[in-house]
Amino acid sequence: MGRLGICLIFLCSLVGSSMAQQPMNPPPADVAVKAGKILDVRTGSYLTDQIIWIEGDKIKTVGKAADITPKLPAGIRTIDLSNATILPGLIDCHVHLTMSPFSMGPGGLHSSYPRQALTGARNARVTLEAGFTTVRNVGAGGYSDIALRDAINAGDVPGPRMLASGPPLSITGGHGDQNFLAPQFAATEDGVADGADVVHKVRENIKYGADVIKFMATGGVLSEGDNPALAQYSPEEMKAIVDTAHGLGRKVAAHAHGELGIRNAVIAGVDSIEHGSYINDEDIQLMKQHGTYLVPTVYLQDWLMENLMTLGLTPSMIGKARLVMPIAQKNESHAFTSGVKIAFGTDAAVYPHGLNAHEFAKMVQMGMTPLGAIQAATLNAADLLGWSDRVGTLEPGKFADLIAVNGDPLADVTVLQSVRFVMKGGEVIKGQ
Ligand SMILES: [Zn+2]
Repeated sequence: MGRLGICLIFLCSLVGSSMAQQPMNPPPADVAVKAGKILDVRTGSYLTDQIIWIEGDKIKTVGKAADITPKLPAGIRTIDLSNATILPGLIDCHVHLTMSPFSMGPGGLHSSYPRQALTGARNARVTLEAGFTTVRNVGAGGYSDIALRDAINAGDVPGPRMLASGPPLSITGGHGDQNFLAPQFAATEDGVADGADVVHKVRENIKYGADVIKFMATGGVLSEGDNPALAQYSPEEMKAIVDTAHGLGRKVAAHAHGELGIRNAVIAGVDSIEHGSYINDEDIQLMKQHGTYLVPTVYLQDWLMENLMTLGLTPSMIGKARLVMPIAQKNESHAFTSGVKIAFGTDAAVYPHGLNAHEFAKMVQMGMTPLGAIQAATLNAADLLGWSDRVGTLEPGKFADLIAVNGDPLADVTVLQSVRFVMKGGEVIKGQ
């Protein structure tokens, strides 16, 4: 036997032993959920007296109890939610699970990447318990979000299904760079790339596990020394980022406040504009033409204004927040009634994780219908993520991700702030 053969045997035995040590999570047993009311998020109508028959981690069928009950296997486990309203598990397209409100200012300089991953484990659990069974994490340092996603998928820590971006791409000195320190500390965040280097950075993020690419098209509010109204990447850099990501099968999310940055990002072909504070009619028309989603992140404006002085932010960050938030409220309200596609996102991290569902009431206050806001967090979010085949509706073949609330979310969308039952992939997370 040659050297290679021995090496192969050695490798096989290593792989074999590491697999033997993996605890095997048995698939959940079949479950029948007795649902008093199910909100059909496609039509906005309620289906009453339903059974959701779950096989393993997927939905087998949904239908009238009278039709389904005779077909159920004898002795199947039953969960009685006959006095509740059931919806698909909610989806948040813009979170930063590895960050918290106090890490936005210079306080964040104390937090190592391993510490951020552990912060993420806590926030993943809190987010899932709040009814969000899927999230898109758009920006984290040191691939801490990728580590968190993999730990959740392995069953090591509880959390939502996660798409993760890794470090967000930013120009030098931009919204995603580290601008608090003097030059002698030579601090640069790991997503910083300029000019032709953006191609390498996109490929590197994908090499290390990114599901989606996030970049900073404009300056930001909670960063030092940059202007949210101004574009940061050039149109050529944006095009290179988007083409490289799309070529490798990844969607692209662009952080964009200023109108020029929004326009350039949409023309470059991004899949979503995050925030959109200065969005104008020209941007809206372009987004409708290109089918680009707006992920508006509006509730954070209220929370941030209330807590602005308690977070250890710098005077320039506080000044930017006071300037931009009222402008964003006005422009995004206008966007909500313009027919642009909206996907639900919160920027949780700017405010405490777990309050994600407060976004619904704010969206409604700013002009969306309750059904429109719920569709943004189910149907539309699944479409933006490219996961319409697995999440976003309660239909056969999709993951058994569902929540239960008391009352009628179409009459009072705030009932989504108190989710009483959460199931992810057939496993009961909350409300056993
Ligand atoms: Zn964000």
